[in-house]
Amino acid sequence: MLLITNGRVLNPATRLEADANVLIVGNRIEKIGSPASVGARALELQRVTGEDIEELSARGLVVAPGFVDVHVHFRDPGLTYKEDIHTGSAAAAAGGYTTVVCMANTKPPVDNEAVLTDLRKRAKDLPIHVLNAANVTTSMSGQKLTDMEKLHAAGACGFTDDGVPIRDEKLMLQALQMAKKLDVPISVHEEDPELLLSQGVNQGAVSEKLGLGGAPAVSEAVLVARDCLLNQSVGAKLDIQHISAKMTVDILRFMKAEGVEVYGEVTPQHLYATEELVLQKGSLARVNPPLRTEEDRQALISGLCDGTIDMIATDHAPHAKEEKAKPIADAPSGMIGLETAFALCYTVLVKSGRMTLLELCEKMSYNPARLYGLDAGELREGGPADLVLLDPKEEWTITEDCFRSKSKNSPFVGERVTGRVKCTICDGKIVGLDN
Ligand SMILES: [Zn+2]
Repeated sequence: MLLITNGRVLNPATRLEADANVLIVGNRIEKIGSPASVGARALELQRVTGEDIEELSARGLVVAPGFVDVHVHFRDPGLTYKEDIHTGSAAAAAGGYTTVVCMANTKPPVDNEAVLTDLRKRAKDLPIHVLNAANVTTSMSGQKLTDMEKLHAAGACGFTDDGVPIRDEKLMLQALQMAKKLDVPISVHEEDPELLLSQGVNQGAVSEKLGLGGAPAVSEAVLVARDCLLNQSVGAKLDIQHISAKMTVDILRFMKAEGVEVYGEVTPQHLYATEELVLQKGSLARVNPPLRTEEDRQALISGLCDGTIDMIATDHAPHAKEEKAKPIADAPSGMIGLETAFALCYTVLVKSGRMTLLELCEKMSYNPARLYGLDAGELREGGPADLVLLDPKEEWTITEDCFRSKSKNSPFVGERVTGRVKCTICDGKIVGLDN
């Protein structure tokens, strides 16, 4: 058994914030409480089972539920030169994540049972909980729905064509209805292709300077409004991915007030940086939807603080060095994010005084777990022993050495940040340790 001592325990589910010890037996949390009561329970169990008590000091650290990321790309199958489920899981564990949801834009995509079944089988051997979303449409072509019922039965935790939007309104409505029937999230990448001159850079001052057409904020907002309206009478768990624009936050706030069932994700990069980063980091800062203006960034922070945006999800999107070395117009969009998510978010949200660490944990673990109905994102006696130990005071500089991902495409290398993941425990085992 594992005894975590002298930590500050944070549990967003119950708003608990207390100095406490945590006893883990097998893959469950046995007890949370005072050193005396937890110690007594450990000794009592030891007398019965003869099992050793392994002590892990969390002095000066925060003990919180393992993070849950509902939006990662592990590039497996087919694009494993960028990432695979093993390196992706290692990156997640290094970043404090104990559960992730993989997007389905692999090669081939997860639009059929065979691909999904293989992924589900291989996920069993991974150090963290790796879940799979399946596609909404076959070949992600937006023409025909997949057999969502069959895919759900084969283990799909949700549905998405992430990477491309679903253009056909009638098809989108049918997809929402099926997601509602199956009671699983449907996650949407909202960029209307009709309005995009080029992807990955915000349409505005920076795209002009670089001679690129750019992606306007309205391309996102117009689809978000459409899908909220379509979902008004359906009530599916509609999840708006990687929200980037102020306009979208305003629409989401309105739609939620109207009673529409809708959830929002925001990435650490959209909270932390603006389009200015493209001028400094070039292709590395190219991402869909793009980093936008300071006004947009502030609106994302406000939206996250007031609950309009529900959760932080990384959109961890690995690409090989040679791909990102291309000029910005030719380089693929996306950046990795699992290992740096907590530090970027802590720095921009908690250190700045915009929210408490408990609130940040809620948006990185509890809220995403609730969307997917997972037994995760909280600390509970009898519950899963998925935890993260955090040092909220440690200042450090992001270097390529911190990445366990197969790819290193982060525009935040060199950034000075505060807050560090010290240890990740999944199913009662230490799966990531910072030393
Ligand atoms: Zn996307």
